[in-house]
Amino acid sequence: MYSASRSKKGCIFCRIISGEVQSDILYQDEQVIAIRDINPQAPTHILILPKAHIPSPAEAEEPLLGHMALVAAELAKREGISPKGYRLVINSGAEAGQEVPHLHLHLLGGRPLKEMG
Ligand code: 5GP
Ligand code: ZN
Repeated sequence: MYSASRSKKGCIFCRIISGEVQSDILYQDEQVIAIRDINPQAPTHILILPKAHIPSPAEAEEPLLGHMALVAAELAKREGISPKGYRLVINSGAEAGQEVPHLHLHLLGGRPLKEMG
């Protein structure tokens, strides 16, 4: 549950970033890493996350958010889903269904996606 903790302690994404928990890392630089979602909702489902524990977009700097979006666009090209289209989503807070309180951008594609709602 999103409300369980906003702190770094016990954060699954921080444990992946530190290498404590194994994950399929597709890309990384000084600011972000990209991993495949463990429970993919589309043939391509990648998460782009800041290496710093930032709970939500409201607490992130503008250049970081821009960088996350550009990394996602580059990964969409690499995955070959760019020509047909893809979706970028950030869930923030309980009503959006955010499960992990560590900012992350979902990159979804590889099949026709339903309307948002
Ligand atoms: P949210 O609902 O917070 O926007 O999305 C969290 C996402 O993280 C979910 O799509 C979920 O499948 C994914 N996730 C949760 N735990 C892990 C994990 O340990 N490894 C990976 N790769 N993805 C995870
Ligand atoms: Zn974290």
